[in-house]
Amino acid sequence: MDVSRLSVDELFQNSIVWDAHCGMDPQVPIDVNSLERIRKAGFTYVSTNVGYDVLPWQETFPVIAGYRRFLSENTDKYTLVSSIADVLAAKRDGKLAVSMDIEGVSALNGTTDLVETYHRLGVRQISFVYNKDNAGGGGCHGENTGITHFGRAVIKEMNRVGMLIDGTHCGARMSIDMAETSSKPIIISHSNSRVLHDHPRNIWDEQAIACANTGGVIGITGIRLFLAKVGDSTSDLDLLVRNIDYYCELVGPEHVGIGTDFAEITKALETRFETPKITGRRHIKWIGHWLRRHRSFPENHCRPVSSRLHQQGHQRNPRCQFHARRCDELGVALRNQGPPPGPSSG
Ligand SMILES: [Zn+2]
Repeated sequence: MDVSRLSVDELFQNSIVWDAHCGMDPQVPIDVNSLERIRKAGFTYVSTNVGYDVLPWQETFPVIAGYRRFLSENTDKYTLVSSIADVLAAKRDGKLAVSMDIEGVSALNGTTDLVETYHRLGVRQISFVYNKDNAGGGGCHGENTGITHFGRAVIKEMNRVGMLIDGTHCGARMSIDMAETSSKPIIISHSNSRVLHDHPRNIWDEQAIACANTGGVIGITGIRLFLAKVGDSTSDLDLLVRNIDYYCELVGPEHVGIGTDFAEITKALETRFETPKITGRRHIKWIGHWLRRHRSFPENHCRPVSSRLHQQGHQRNPRCQFHARRCDELGVALRNQGPPPGPSSG
């Protein structure tokens, strides 16, 4: 199939579209209107946040309860995800698959015992830090500390129960520590490139590479603050596409996803179904671009990350301040994995 000839609608119909973090307020009553907009916009699977470090940890539970009740009362439209099979079934049945995520391990109240409890309730993803350092490690607005003993224990438990480890909002050193500690792929669910826009919430190439090297995915986010400096007149769409292209070239499209982090953007998405205004089309197009990028690369274009870096002669970014020695070690380790495969070797 030549996906470059497909319309955005056709791409959505033929794809599983995952929003790794849709950025709704974790509050009661839950924001059912935004969830409905996401469903109508044609997403397959969305992760919605039910708690973060700013709130007392106990407040996570009423939000979880709100989602569980709403989803159980609307099974004709939604599925609470417990496995990959649930996502595939939701696509087949025309429903929106939903799971929950938490931003910051403060929600664990200092015990790994709560990981399995959250998992059983439908939480499938935890980003370890929400900007500021916490008991798990360093935040992107913190002291750039690495992972703590508690953070390592949480990763071990999350690996055991089957939960996505998320390096968004973490400091550079922290997210690379997480990638090295986890025995399973990690994600960075909603962060853009710090090379393209030097904002502390964005990530350096080394973080993206460490994530991709686990087999994980970096989600591009739609928040303007993380796309460009104030005064930059470049459109959101162009900036989003630039990030998608940048990561597709750096780590390969199989490691590039979306984490809109912006429920409001889905108001624009909805318009393509109800009132097809120009703004709606423009917002939806960047996801269409991402889908095309995913599906139009020849299979042998996407080489293992280490080989791509070797080929590009990857060097530590001099602006990356987190941990020079770690960066160098990472680069050497990647370069030592041998020459890139030939064009036809996959
Ligand atoms: Zn966030």
